[in-house]
Amino acid sequence: MRAASLLVCLGLLVLSECQPREQPEPVQYNVPAEVEPYILSFRNEAAKRSYPVSTANLIVSFGALPHTDECGQCQLQSGKTPRITLSTAASCWQQLSANERECLVFHELGHCLLSRIHKTDRFPDGTYVSLMNPDNTGVYATCRYPINENDCDKRPRRTYYVDELFNPATPKPAWAR
Ligand SMILES: [Zn+2]
Repeated sequence: MRAASLLVCLGLLVLSECQPREQPEPVQYNVPAEVEPYILSFRNEAAKRSYPVSTANLIVSFGALPHTDECGQCQLQSGKTPRITLSTAASCWQQLSANERECLVFHELGHCLLSRIHKTDRFPDGTYVSLMNPDNTGVYATCRYPINENDCDKRPRRTYYVDELFNPATPKPAWAR
């Protein structure tokens, strides 16, 4: 009995000692100037769809990622500010068009702020159904699909992918075959 009680007390002591270290991080916003336009665009797209999401608690930074075929990563930890790391690898950010950068940032925001996980589904023509596909930077950008390469800037296509980002139940678009 005594031994058991002692163990419980020790357990509580350890728990209470741990608590100060478990304090949540304060709300903070730190985004590089060259990424800011895409965060603004995300906010605008969310507002257009009346989607309740805040970007007020977010850290974006450039850095090295462990896998060279990854151009972005979202880190989510309970009580901590969501963190997005954009790869400084030569084949990533610096190589991407504005459209592709938006796709990459939206993909990471999908993980970090919309709780989206990867979605590998494709339409019959091979086109990815979602910006949340897990593949390399080439496919974050919808305009790099071979079948789509000539119409990447057409608004309906971007509209569909952004619709799907905020609502995975978005119906198949007319252009998908
Ligand atoms: Zn991802």
